[in-house]
Amino acid sequence: MQQRTIKKPVVLEGIGLHSGKPVRMVVAPAPVDAGIVFRANGEVIPAAPESVVDSRFATTLGRNGTRIRTVEHLMAAAVGLGYDNLDVQVEGPELPAADGSAKPFVALLQTAGRQEQGARRRPIALPHPIRVGEGHRWISIVPSSRFRISYTLDNDHPAIGTQVLSWDPSERTFVEELAPARTYGFLKDIGTMRKNGLARGGSLENAVVVGKRGPINGLRYRDEYVRHKVLDLVGDLALLGRPLLGHVIARNAGHDLNFALAVAVQRALGLERRAVPSAARVARAATARADGFLPVPGLAVS
Ligand SMILES: [Zn+2]
Repeated sequence: MQQRTIKKPVVLEGIGLHSGKPVRMVVAPAPVDAGIVFRANGEVIPAAPESVVDSRFATTLGRNGTRIRTVEHLMAAAVGLGYDNLDVQVEGPELPAADGSAKPFVALLQTAGRQEQGARRRPIALPHPIRVGEGHRWISIVPSSRFRISYTLDNDHPAIGTQVLSWDPSERTFVEELAPARTYGFLKDIGTMRKNGLARGGSLENAVVVGKRGPINGLRYRDEYVRHKVLDLVGDLALLGRPLLGHVIARNAGHDLNFALAVAVQRALGLERRAVPSAARVARAATARADGFLPVPGLAVS
């Protein structure tokens, strides 16, 4: 299949989910083999595992002190619609939260039109199965002739419980079944998160907020939570820059494990462009940088 970009630049403004700051993003066409590239403060930051500087609660890319938070929903929309090459100029520390899902990014890219390009895609074939994580949180991927995700989410909250989703990718199923699923968080955690610089732009407009008795602002799907988890996984694996031929099987994974899987896939292929730090090292460095921030166990905002 041929690589694709968009036909014309498109703009989205809003506030950042975690920073709460006003942000603006211009997505423009990019040449063959460019991949998805972010630009901010004069820095060029390729969407790649090497650029990930934080993977707690959201996926943050960075270079030389410039950081762009919460790239995963745009990344998911891009690959879900089959775009390989995009240039994303960002003003602000984060992408717009939009409605907490990938739906507004899908709508934005659809207005930009689709341009087939003069080079073929090069899918990644795995040499062997890979597994990351342990206990009740893990992801494995087994070689397959096509990409597929099977996800199990277990949550102690009775309103969520156990949700299972097996997703067979197509543009239609992405647009209708995954893209509109919103991020979620628990009402009881919001105070702590805000104190720690998270969810400051979060509201009932851009997240499912789960109270004691269930979601206080209604659901788009009965199993919206697991759908959002699969959406995040699609967005994070898009950091590999090429379609992945494998069946991804995940249990209670979040951005940290999604990133660890992307790094493990690169290692298995000998594809690291430079030394890729382990996910644990990235998390430790990010914790140190965040100046005393302590991850709160049990948070599920993703
Ligand atoms: Zn998400």
